[in-house]
Amino acid sequence: MNVLEGKVAVVTGANAGIGLAIARAYHAEGARVFVTGRRQAQLDAVEAELGQGVTGVRCDVGDLADLDALYAQVAERAGRIDVLVANAGIGITAPLGEITEEQFDAMFTTNVKGSLFTVQKALPLLAPGASIIFTGSSSATRPQPYLPVYGATKAAIRNLVRGFAHGAGAGGYRVNVLSPGGTRTQGLVDLLPPEELAAAGASIPLGRLAEPEEIAAAAVFLASDASSYVNGAELAVDGGAAQI
Ligand code: NDP
Repeated sequence: MNVLEGKVAVVTGANAGIGLAIARAYHAEGARVFVTGRRQAQLDAVEAELGQGVTGVRCDVGDLADLDALYAQVAERAGRIDVLVANAGIGITAPLGEITEEQFDAMFTTNVKGSLFTVQKALPLLAPGASIIFTGSSSATRPQPYLPVYGATKAAIRNLVRGFAHGAGAGGYRVNVLSPGGTRTQGLVDLLPPEELAAAGASIPLGRLAEPEEIAAAAVFLASDASSYVNGAELAVDGGAAQI
C-alpha cells in the first residue's frame, strides 16, 4: 500500500539533495508533490524524471512574494496541503573570525526566516491533520567548528518547532523537526574538502555519512498517518552523531 496516496505535499529545496530524495519518496508513495527551488533548470529536470503528479515551482524561500506566488499555484492546482516540508537551507563554512555580515544574513534569511514564512504562508491551505516537517540538523546540538552560524540557525529551527507544537491542536496540524547528520549531498560535498568529508563520516558512531534516501525514509514516516500522534518531536537521523 502507498502510505501517502491522495495526499498533497509541498517540499521546498527539492530540486537537489535531501529535498529531492524526499520528493522522490513521496511521489513513490502516491503523493501529489510540489517541488521548489531557485534553479528552474533543476526543477524542469525533476518534473521530467518523476512525471505526472509532480510540479516544479521556482521559489526563493527568503522572498515572501515568491512564497505567495507558490501557494497561489498550489491553491489553484491542488486546493490544499496535507504535508509541508520546510527543507530549503544553506550552510556557509566560516570560523568565527571570518564570518561576514552577508554570510550571516544569507544563512538566517534562508534557514530561519525562509522556513518560518514557508509555514506561516501555508497555514490557510493546510488540510485538517496536516503534517509540517522542518529540516533541522545534528549541528543544532553538536555545533561544528567551521559552521557556527549554520548550527545556530538549526538550533533556532528546533526551538521554533517546539513553540509551534503548542498551537497544533488549535491549528489542526502537527509539526516536527527531522534532523539529519552529515548526508552525502552535492551541498555537503561542495562545502567540505574531501579529507574533512571523510573525517566527518568517520566521526559518526555508525562510521559513515547518511545517504539522502535514508533521510527521506524518515520524512515518509513523519508525513504519513503512521505518525499521527507525533507532534513537537525531533527525529534524529544522524547515525548517532548528536548523542556523542
Ligand atoms: P543541497 O545544497 O544539496 O540542496 C539545497 C536545496 O535547497 C536545493 O534544492 C536548493 O535549490 C535549495 N535552496 C537553497 N537556498 C534556497 C532558497 N533561498 N530558496 C529556495 N530553495 C533554496 O543541500 P542538502 O540537500 O544537503 O540540504 C537540505 C537541507 O538539509 C538543508 O536545510 C540543510 O541544512 C539540511 N541538512 C543537510 C545535511 C547534510 O549533511 N547534507 C545535514 C543536516 C541538515 P536552489 O539552489 O535551486 O535554490
